[in-house]
Amino acid sequence: MNPQLLTVSYLAAGALFIFSLGGLSHQESARRGNIFGMLGMAIAILATMLSGKVDGFEKLIPAMIIGALIGIVVAKKVEMTSMPELVAGFHSFVGAAAVMVGFASYLDPTAHFEGAEKTIHDVEVYLGVFIGIITFTGSVIAFGKLRGSISGKPLMLPARHWLNLIMLVACIYFGYAFLVADSHNDGVIPLLIMTVIAGIIGIHLIMAIGGADMPVVVSMLNSYSGWAAAATGFMLSNIALIVVGALVGSSGAILSYIMCRAMNRHFVSVILGGFGTSGGSAAADEEAGEVTATNAEEVAAMLKDASEVIIVPGYGMAVAQAQNTVSDIVKKLRSKGVNVRFGIHPVAGRLPGHMNVLLAEAKVPYDIVLEMDELNDDFPDTDVSLVIGANDIVNPAAQTDPNSPIAGMPVLEVWKAKTSVVLKRSMASGYAGVDNPLFYKDNTEMLFGDAKESMDEVLRHLD
Ligand code: NDP
Repeated sequence: MNPQLLTVSYLAAGALFIFSLGGLSHQESARRGNIFGMLGMAIAILATMLSGKVDGFEKLIPAMIIGALIGIVVAKKVEMTSMPELVAGFHSFVGAAAVMVGFASYLDPTAHFEGAEKTIHDVEVYLGVFIGIITFTGSVIAFGKLRGSISGKPLMLPARHWLNLIMLVACIYFGYAFLVADSHNDGVIPLLIMTVIAGIIGIHLIMAIGGADMPVVVSMLNSYSGWAAAATGFMLSNIALIVVGALVGSSGAILSYIMCRAMNRHFVSVILGGFGTSGGSAAADEEAGEVTATNAEEVAAMLKDASEVIIVPGYGMAVAQAQNTVSDIVKKLRSKGVNVRFGIHPVAGRLPGHMNVLLAEAKVPYDIVLEMDELNDDFPDTDVSLVIGANDIVNPAAQTDPNSPIAGMPVLEVWKAKTSVVLKRSMASGYAGVDNPLFYKDNTEMLFGDAKESMDEVLRHLD
């Protein structure tokens, strides 16, 4: 392929990725956004393969087929509730790839760089491996935390900030040793030592982050994986990778910032860890008292009599796969003249946009799905707030208990409605491990049981 055509193909791919991001910012256009992204990726892969700079097709093509097959099987089999782990797993692959490309590019016997060019290439390698290994180890820990195989509680080592600083300074020192090394044999040693140290930084950074702040971590690792890909693009002089990496890196960083704002956290404090520490359930203990249980028939009657209803879905709705029944209930209530809206918290579920995806899948009209800020002031005028498998995002302790691990996090103020109905299976706490005083409020009624079964029963009683 001639160089001009290659550049044009990469530009087209880059433009498609930008359209893809634009499309993904609205539910109505998300499907189109995905198609643009797939098209862009297909063009980028094809153009790279035909660029004349790639050989070894006999190994490359089988590897691509095996990789594609694994991707298809995993994506088809994954439950919506396991999506965050899958995303964290994918981020770890990008990090691992950047590390491997970094070492391969440095040790490539056919590559000869001299003078300033050599220094620039070495810096690219060092930075690429540094970001790549932090992304890799951090994502593996995030995978474990999201899966529940590693405790969600933050690991608070004494002097942990100093520890991070010392490790960072060590990485800078070995970076200098790497750059002034006389040969690749000498240079590979500081590169290896930095890889181990930066790997520990990645583990330590994510281990120090508490449960409720995991959404920021997921988007932050997404951003890191973008920068790792961009660094790989620099090492390989591949424009497409640089563009894609920069797009993913910057959009991930913006998403992390949005998530931090939504959770009323400072970005730097989240990265350095420590939020989400246990021990903040005092308010809940003080308020703990009588819990009022209700049943599906009563809830159906309450909904029928209401004129304003706000539904707040959370992780439990995803676990129970109750979204289709919820959608049917909404249709029925709307046909009876009840004004039903959904209130979506930015960190509801286990993935940014988790609830929006589920509701779109269940064909809930977009115009009744509102962000927290758009309807939080409307609860006092609401007859029933129906909380379906949500817990942390409706926890009043975030406002009333300064010692709570989720203190300061904005929440949906469901308790201000005339009645709140909470659907869950038990009195267990949510992801952040914090007790919820909402359950004990006078105007709260608990509908215990699996959310899908409870919603099915409510639907039957609406007829
Ligand atoms: P929570 O995890 O706080 O609560 C979910 C509730 O659902 C649980 O209390 C559980 O109670 C209930 N539940 C589980 N299964 C069922 C079921 N089958 N039927 C009925 N209820 C069920 O979820 P929220 O959505 O309120 O909050 C999200 C939390 O996850 C926040 O802490 C957020 O920080 C964190 N997080 C969010 C991410 C994101 O990107 N959105 C990523 C990572 C973490 P019970 O067991 O009694 O049924």
